[in-house]
Amino acid sequence: MCGIVGYVGVNLAKQELIDSLKKLEYRGYDSVGITILNSSLETCKAPGKISELESKLPEIDGYTGIGHTRWATHGQPTEQNAHPHLSGNISVVHNGIIENYHQLKDELIEMGYEFKSETDTEVIAHLLHLNYQQSRDFHTAFRKTLKLLEGSYAVAAVCEDIPDEIIAGKKNSPLVVGLGDNCNFAASDITAFLKHTKDVIFLEDLEIAQIQKNDVQFFDLEGKPVEKEKTRVEWDLEDAEKAGYEHFMLKEIHEQTKSVYNTFAGKLSELDGSINLDELNLTKKQIRNLNRIELIACGTSYNAGLIARYLFEQLAGIHTNIDTGSEYRYRNPVFCEDDDVLSIAISQSGETADTIAALQSLKSSGCNTLAITNVIGSSITRDADDTMYIKSGPELGVAATKTFTSQLTILYLLAVHFARVRNKINTDDSRNFIRALKKLPGNIQKILNSKDTIRECAEQFSDVSDYFFIGRYTNYPVALEGALKLKEISYIHAEGYAAGELKHGPLALITDNTPVVAIATPGHTYDKTLSNIMEVKARNATVIAVAEEGDHEINKYVDIVLRVPETEELLSPILSTIVLQLLAYYTALARGCSIDKPRNLAKSVTVE
Ligand code: GLU
Repeated sequence: MCGIVGYVGVNLAKQELIDSLKKLEYRGYDSVGITILNSSLETCKAPGKISELESKLPEIDGYTGIGHTRWATHGQPTEQNAHPHLSGNISVVHNGIIENYHQLKDELIEMGYEFKSETDTEVIAHLLHLNYQQSRDFHTAFRKTLKLLEGSYAVAAVCEDIPDEIIAGKKNSPLVVGLGDNCNFAASDITAFLKHTKDVIFLEDLEIAQIQKNDVQFFDLEGKPVEKEKTRVEWDLEDAEKAGYEHFMLKEIHEQTKSVYNTFAGKLSELDGSINLDELNLTKKQIRNLNRIELIACGTSYNAGLIARYLFEQLAGIHTNIDTGSEYRYRNPVFCEDDDVLSIAISQSGETADTIAALQSLKSSGCNTLAITNVIGSSITRDADDTMYIKSGPELGVAATKTFTSQLTILYLLAVHFARVRNKINTDDSRNFIRALKKLPGNIQKILNSKDTIRECAEQFSDVSDYFFIGRYTNYPVALEGALKLKEISYIHAEGYAAGELKHGPLALITDNTPVVAIATPGHTYDKTLSNIMEVKARNATVIAVAEEGDHEINKYVDIVLRVPETEELLSPILSTIVLQLLAYYTALARGCSIDKPRNLAKSVTVE
């Protein structure tokens, strides 16, 4: 998630940190703060933009400091929750999510620590303080603290007793050291210090950097020195923001191994097959009594909702409707006396005007309301009774990618949880679902590894004027999403269709110059999909199938096969969609389109 930076050098740390944080702004954030290590620690934080912090920053001397742009995952974007977090003479900034913070927080409170924020991060500050009291050695305390943390972190800390030094470490979050002239940096990415140096050292997981102005040492968590190679990066600022990827969209497609993991992290208990959704206030009794779910969403979130309808019906046995926000708000839906309805509104930004209006209307009809969003404190969270965050991290490409797969992941968790509570599935079934979920990040990586094949396919058809995407059952919304992605960024006309519906009209449009992407992963509609593939083949279309690795049968029917790894039928939409994201991306690239900012589109649709 957002940005951290540490500076040790000969210039005033205050200005260096502000300059660096401004370079990290593109990552998205909701609050900001710095600590300068002078003779004491001087900390200043603000909700909102860096300019808000600048307007209240006093004169601070000092040549060492840490800074942070926060993208809230735990607690609202307030000044209190902004980083750095302090404990005694120690100050800490953190990117990521500490999954076991509940347990650590309880233990620390028991020992007498007082928590001032709602963040997961504050446990790091107090643990560091506790371990420092015990060992009187800051490095030992830092290592000991990192060993206790589960989840993801890039952490930088300073201690009043150790002037002119920063200590930093990481696991599953990026951290890079910049080697300047009479100054050194630690930061989430190199944009933070690019104007000072292009000589960098990338930290690996569970490595620690001890940074002084003319020296940087690296250690493992046991305190053993680690030899690291210096790299000279030739990126300019724009390349660096995208971590070397050509576009934010491609970067975000690649981030899905992590973002999907972050969505389910800390929520799965394989032992008893339960899903822990602490944030959900809906009681078990309410879940058992539900007789209908109303899903509301727009755009890509709507496609996630379409898939969720199958999940809630098949797994939890709950009658489920779905509508777009813009249509629902002008309908006159009928509610009966004994209706027990949960309305779930899905919005990446939490600001989608149509979705919010529909949610408000459902709320006033007496429904329980649940918002699923990526942005803490967004408008929708204030209207809904309950909120679940997908924790994908900021998404900068206008075309949604990682937020879609995280939405699906959280909806899947919700459906399995409801199914358990309503006794529709047993422990073994839910254990199987949990195992399949845990394999997702590895399976996503396999798809990313095959991106050259997808690229070749995309380039072959990049100059066509029409594309069709077909699928059945949960693969029907996957087809819709594949078509939407292609339209959004490549401007090729694309139709997503229920495969069985083609013959009721659009088959008339199929020619030998219309590629048809058929999502044909295993499941109870597989054979039917093969029949639909035959229908389009008979009209001379070129068929590109998205099929499972072990499916050799499919080769007989189609022209090109793009592979996805084996998984549960209900989880396969997550994998198939990633193939289609890459297909859209490489098609748009071949056509020279403006991928991250497609024409006429905005990331957050706050107007009706
Ligand atoms: N989980 C932390 C918080 O909510 C860090 C968020 C971030 O990476 O910006 O404060």
